[in-house]
Amino acid sequence: MILAVLLAATSLLAGSCRDTKMGGQAEAQNQPVKRSELHAEDFDPKPDTPPALKISGQRAYQNLKDFVALGPRPLGSSGHAKAEQFIVSHLDGAQIEQDRFNVQTAAGPFAMDNIIAKFPGRKDGIIVLAGHYDTNYPLRNTSFVGANDGGSNVGLMLEIASQLRNHPSEGYSIWLLFTDGEEATVAWTDEDSVYGSKHLAKKWAQDGTATKIKAFLLLDMIGDKDLHLEHDTNSTPWLLDVVTRAGQRLGQQSHFSTRSNTISDDHIPFREVGIPVADIIDLDYGFDNLYHHTTQDTPDKCSAESLQVVADVVMETIRALNTH
Ligand SMILES: [Zn+2]
Repeated sequence: MILAVLLAATSLLAGSCRDTKMGGQAEAQNQPVKRSELHAEDFDPKPDTPPALKISGQRAYQNLKDFVALGPRPLGSSGHAKAEQFIVSHLDGAQIEQDRFNVQTAAGPFAMDNIIAKFPGRKDGIIVLAGHYDTNYPLRNTSFVGANDGGSNVGLMLEIASQLRNHPSEGYSIWLLFTDGEEATVAWTDEDSVYGSKHLAKKWAQDGTATKIKAFLLLDMIGDKDLHLEHDTNSTPWLLDVVTRAGQRLGQQSHFSTRSNTISDDHIPFREVGIPVADIIDLDYGFDNLYHHTTQDTPDKCSAESLQVVADVVMETIRALNTH
């Protein structure tokens, strides 16, 4: 993963200021509200909004450990093929689409495979939960397994899949997107990164899927025992505010950082085709970021508790998004 630029400290917890000409007044006049004019406050769940799915951080953490036990999974490796099989084998009950393609990277040509698990809902529209499953290619000859960096989001997404199987969404359809080729193959640049997302965002723009996606929530490095989620200025402001307000309602605001970061990640190509995006990420992993992209990124640096916090925030965010 990822390039980030630290910006000045800023306070985000108050959410956006409300412009009086926006959603609330339009609703009062019984006029249809344009989604683009809604503010984060407009999504605060109403009493009749169905409760959020109960997701287990413990099971997500067990998935993380099982997934990481497959070994390193850089592009082109047998571990990568095993990772694809592992993910697909845990998606029973979903409609699975594999977006396979070949791409020229900075390190040569590779076959890649974005895996999409579709769980239909009752409302017309889609919420995408996304995260990558490849491990860092430049570290391919080490024992790097990316427990947090790739493993944490896969662990949580597979737990969400197991719950959606038995508890279909009352709101929008939920698509779980396991992206490939997120990592740079040589060194992170806009060109040498997020290969899978660039490919799929283009496809979704061309086939009309992009216009059906109400929100794209990216999960990345969410297992850190010491969890502090960033305020990413590359995310769509209203959507990141919806996420932050969900965290506040759950009493989890201490896990949200007040500093702003500008983060390059899998969400950028989807933002560029007009999809609202939010990156849910903790980019400070271990003292002085010591565990990021090192062989110390192992399951013991992650926790079921952190995965539980993120799971709850994501589910409460979906509950909020289903109000409009
Ligand atoms: Zn990474």
